[in-house]
Amino acid sequence: MHSNRSEIGTGVDVAARDLADRFAEASRAVARAQAAQARVLADAADLGMRRVAELVSTSSREAELPFRALAAELGVAANMSDRTVQRRMNDAAVLEESFPATFEAWDAGRVSAGHVAVVLEHGLPLTDTQARAEFEVQAVARAEETTPGRLGTALARIAEALQPRTLTERHREARASRGACVRDIGDGMAEFSTIQPAVLAHAMHDRITQQAQAIKKADPTDTRTLDQIRADLVADILLTTTPTVETGAGMSDGFGGLGAIRGIVNVTVPALALAGVTDEPGELVGRCPIDPATARALAGHATGWDRVLADPITGCVLAVDRYTPSADMKRFLRARDQHCRFPGCRQTAHRCDRDHTLDYALGGETSTCNLACLCKRHHTLKGETGWTVRQLGGGILEWTSPGGHVYIDKPPPAVHFTPNTEPPPF
Ligand SMILES: [Zn+2]
Repeated sequence: MHSNRSEIGTGVDVAARDLADRFAEASRAVARAQAAQARVLADAADLGMRRVAELVSTSSREAELPFRALAAELGVAANMSDRTVQRRMNDAAVLEESFPATFEAWDAGRVSAGHVAVVLEHGLPLTDTQARAEFEVQAVARAEETTPGRLGTALARIAEALQPRTLTERHREARASRGACVRDIGDGMAEFSTIQPAVLAHAMHDRITQQAQAIKKADPTDTRTLDQIRADLVADILLTTTPTVETGAGMSDGFGGLGAIRGIVNVTVPALALAGVTDEPGELVGRCPIDPATARALAGHATGWDRVLADPITGCVLAVDRYTPSADMKRFLRARDQHCRFPGCRQTAHRCDRDHTLDYALGGETSTCNLACLCKRHHTLKGETGWTVRQLGGGILEWTSPGGHVYIDKPPPAVHFTPNTEPPPF
């Protein structure tokens, strides 16, 4: 039966073909638009670099500032993080400079942003100009006829064949990129990952696998999957054991060593949820919601309590006090701002500077109406580029970009209310 086909007998599904043609054309339009966006970013990078070149003093810290100010100008205008925009400005500049044919194919909609990212990933490690040019010829030809996923495999092989340096040399350099990071993935979960030399990474995975298997064997009633036990082991090991390195950090409390260092997280919990009246989630401050049971357990182990009084309508923080009285602006600001107050930035408040909005030296008061949390990056942006800020009261900041755009940043609401007919338990 071919009743759903428009041209019975020819075997051609015209409706499907039409959708495929429209989809391909729309995808080419998306690619062309993204290429146009990248051209703007490349222009911005170009302007940034010309401004850097005009600087009289070029300490490494100042050398980046015109660039950063521009990234912020573009980022805030498009509701994007200025860090992301700065990274994409760099990528666009590199693409224009080193992979011009790829950029042209992108302009024409023949390859997508996904293909371009793969070309950059595998082409950038080729530092030899000749090798890179040869690589690009092959890369563009392949990109135009396959998916980014398959392109990656092909380009890895091509790049390896063109790589004039030995694996030993490259590995020595790649080791410098090792690191560890955490990424929120929703539902109160986050992913912790680490980049390691391959030997160490596989050894780490093998060790927790063997340990997990041993646990399974010792207790057949354990219902956790092998993967769940691996995750539990990683948490146990990282949070409780003491690294062998001795730095002297934490010595003052008499325990000494890196083992004395504890992880710190800031959590807000709505009072009614804490009392078990509602099931509202808590929040890992500035990051993501966490489930109420975890929030209550953490609150139960906290040594000191900050009581935060919030405006019931706006959720803005009005005052903070402590049951042991020592009300203090730092705690107030941390509770009010929760994170860096540059538009779009989420750097948590305990890693921020407390900035005098109107400079202390210019008569600015040390009061909460003239203080705001700013991360290092945005503190510098405010102090040393054309970005300016003033406070409008209630913790509301008005930012003006060097380009003359004005942006309002309001403090995040500290508490959330759910309808509840029961009287509160306090
Ligand atoms: Zn910031």
